[in-house]
Amino acid sequence: MDVPLLDLKSQYQQIRDDVLPAVQALLETQLCCNGPAVRQFEAQMAEYCGCKRAMGVASGTDALLVSLMALDVQPGHEVIVPAFTFFATAGVVRRLGATPVFVDIDPETFLIDIDQVAAAVTDKTRAVIPVHLYGQMVDMDALQAALGSADVAIVEDAAQAIGATRNGTPAGSVGATGCLSFYPTKNLGAMGDAGMVLCQDDALADKIESLRNHGQGSTYVHPWVGGNFRMDSIQAVVLAEKLKHLDAWTATRRSYAAIYNEALGDVDEVTTPTVLEGNEMVWHQHVIRADRRDDLRKHLGEQGVSSGVYYPLGLHMQECFADLGYREGDLPETERACREVLALPICEQLSGEQIRHTADQIRGFYG
Ligand SMILES: *Cc1c(COP(=O)(O)O)cnc(C)c1O
Repeated sequence: MDVPLLDLKSQYQQIRDDVLPAVQALLETQLCCNGPAVRQFEAQMAEYCGCKRAMGVASGTDALLVSLMALDVQPGHEVIVPAFTFFATAGVVRRLGATPVFVDIDPETFLIDIDQVAAAVTDKTRAVIPVHLYGQMVDMDALQAALGSADVAIVEDAAQAIGATRNGTPAGSVGATGCLSFYPTKNLGAMGDAGMVLCQDDALADKIESLRNHGQGSTYVHPWVGGNFRMDSIQAVVLAEKLKHLDAWTATRRSYAAIYNEALGDVDEVTTPTVLEGNEMVWHQHVIRADRRDDLRKHLGEQGVSSGVYYPLGLHMQECFADLGYREGDLPETERACREVLALPICEQLSGEQIRHTADQIRGFYG
């Protein structure tokens, strides 16, 4: 039995009869760039994420970048980021000429180590970017408490965590901004690139709306230098149709996570995910730690079962950050996670049988 990581073609079959007429209607309007369809989707997302404002942008990366721009992050500033995340979390810091300061992760949850954040704050620190990795929220109360009265903005990287909550509070609704990605492989994926900035503060949100359109105030008048970070309307139309299914898809992911955790709970060589009390995780990935991870991955591949490694190299070890002077051994939990993590297929288009089959193959490998 083949088990792919993702099955976007069958997801499309499920929604095509709704998506095609909606796209056709949009095309008749020819308001294709940051138009009324984007405004409508933004209103839906603001409600879904419990936020005052939601602003469509061209990608999750741009959501992070425009957030840091709005917070005036500049050369000489430091921004604290986990080393165990997708590249964009730190790339945007560097693109503004600021310095990413890498901290390690908590080995139980793979989330940013909050004690290390507190210890990394200096008088140059402008922001911290907690990443709600794999679909689980960072303990934002603990993070805020650790920052205390320091003047450090929080930019939530919620690219993997749309709809996740902690004690009922949605991902992206706590920080100065929350950043979503609608890259096609995310839990809510566009048919191309798109992203969103969530915000509870009108003044900051107004600035972000301006920055995403070249920092324009009134037409051709520019109080700031921004960029073209606009969302395509066609993506908003697709996303609005998919949003109708998101809760059901998330529920399916949750049931699949439960199957894995039950089936693998007693396998000594495997550590199943830890979900913090109070967290409702949306399972963007189901990631285990596995002994002989690379052998297991090869074995699964030979049985037609796909798996993924997110992420194989800590950001502190990336060539492009070599000048920052980090060495192997500096962030041991990140480095251990890079060697041990394995993401199992959990997309909602798979069947329960495929999930059970995957778990059986893992049990079989360890005998
Ligand atoms: C996907 C992702 C991003 C970037 O989103 P894009 O839409 O691909 O630009 C940023 N951070 C994390 C943690 C992600 O998973």
